Amino acid sequence: MKVALDFKELLPTVEETDSVRGCFQCSACVADCPAARRSARFNPREIMLKVLLGLPESLVCEDSAVWDCTTCYTCKERCPQGVHPIEVITALKNRIAAEGMLPEKVATAVEGIKKTDRVIQKSDAISRRRSELGLDFDMDTDGGRIEGVLAT
Ligand code: SF4
Ligand code: SF4
Repeated sequence: MKVALDFKELLPTVEETDSVRGCFQCSACVADCPAARRSARFNPREIMLKVLLGLPESLVCEDSAVWDCTTCYTCKERCPQGVHPIEVITALKNRIAAEGMLPEKVATAVEGIKKTDRVIQKSDAISRRRSELGLDFDMDTDGGRIEGVLAT
């Protein structure tokens, strides 16, 4: 197992990732984590420990468990130390993307968002549901708007 002493510094320098050092491994973030309940391989406390110890191998990889996170932010509310596991997980996802290791499903979703500006893509079922709810039926866009915002 290879230890990367600069692993924490490899994560983007967002304020929240600096709080990693405060984690004392209490597991409060695990107790109410919906992803940890459903996924045997996902545990925010373990992710924090690997970041603290400088063990990126199983986190920054094609099959990383970080994609099981639902981004619900419960861990941020529960942590008694003000550590923000969700921000660290987001930083890890960005790292995976920067290293060209996005899982196929995520890469496809990203391309779809870039092309259509929509997180949920157009389909007959979605169009039917929108129609039933009295929402605008025309879902066509030229795309590029979200990409433009991200580029600023
Ligand atoms: S991130 Fe916070 S809640 Fe989770 S194990 Fe560390 S100190 Fe406890
Ligand atoms: S945001 Fe936190 S609590 Fe929610 S799924 Fe992700 S790790 Fe679990």
